[in-house]
Amino acid sequence: MVLESPRQALIKKSMPVPKPLNGQVLVKVMACGICRTDLHIIDGDLKNPKLPLIPGHEIIGHIEKVGEGIRDFHEGDMVGIPWLGYTCGECKYCLNQQENLCERAIFTGYTKDGGFAQYMIAYQSYCFPISPKYANPGGAPLLCAGLIGYRSYGMMGSHARKIGIYGFGAAAHILVQVARQEGKSVFAFTRDGDHSAQEFALRMGATWAGGSKEPAPEKLDAAIIFAPVGSLVPKALRDLDKGGVVICGGIHMSDIPSFPYELLWEERIIRSVANLTRQDAKNFLTHASKFSIQTNVVLYPLEKANDAIADLKEGRIQGAAVLVME
Ligand SMILES: [Zn+2]
Ligand SMILES: [Zn+2]
Repeated sequence: MVLESPRQALIKKSMPVPKPLNGQVLVKVMACGICRTDLHIIDGDLKNPKLPLIPGHEIIGHIEKVGEGIRDFHEGDMVGIPWLGYTCGECKYCLNQQENLCERAIFTGYTKDGGFAQYMIAYQSYCFPISPKYANPGGAPLLCAGLIGYRSYGMMGSHARKIGIYGFGAAAHILVQVARQEGKSVFAFTRDGDHSAQEFALRMGATWAGGSKEPAPEKLDAAIIFAPVGSLVPKALRDLDKGGVVICGGIHMSDIPSFPYELLWEERIIRSVANLTRQDAKNFLTHASKFSIQTNVVLYPLEKANDAIADLKEGRIQGAAVLVME
């Protein structure tokens, strides 16, 4: 399913199966989740995608063929492929354990073709072995919603016990389980009046759920904002205790309105989370293989990608939308 230009529907196309080059693998895609970032790419909010583009960066599949110089993987191995598709290894960020900020990074389903297809090419160093319990379409959302959520979670500091999550979609429904497994309380904020999302949050393990305009029932140690809504930043600051942190987990957000300095005073922090490192992927997948994470997925055949995108955009999906290949 191909994006030929932004703000247009994806087009179903037949293409030759690509060949893996040195250091690359050919992956037969089993399933690929749809992330909010895909919507931002398709809508043109994220500039300069590769065009035409096969989107998708929450990929579960098996290695069909290996290129030259591949030792880590063999044909038939199940792998997960995330957003980070390649880094240069030489820039100051790569040399400083910040490869998520690499100057020459390539992103799956954005600046290289991704997983809305039956086959795709990936660099072997950016593929991750997948535990058998996630080697199915339900595992796909772990590869971005799970990973970015986990990186955001790591930014809070381990002392944070009471966590607000603003926007209860794919990332939140995974993260609430991780937080509960570690004995933390999650306060879920959804669109105002979205009672079914609030019930969903409670069912997934949130301690409290309410509309995003409601004040938190207790002062929070940390807030993670997944909804692309800038006005949630001052709102989350209001909910925070002293020394707390607001983490913006999305790649795109509407403008943040001005707010009084007293909301930031007392060492409150606002920060963003950008992309992921390979270490994040290893850490999260190790955590996920020890614990049990249940994703709530709505499955669509690949050629129904446009319907899935519309459902996600309109908030009709609880959890995550996943495309399943033939
Ligand atoms: Zn994503
Ligand atoms: Zn680099």
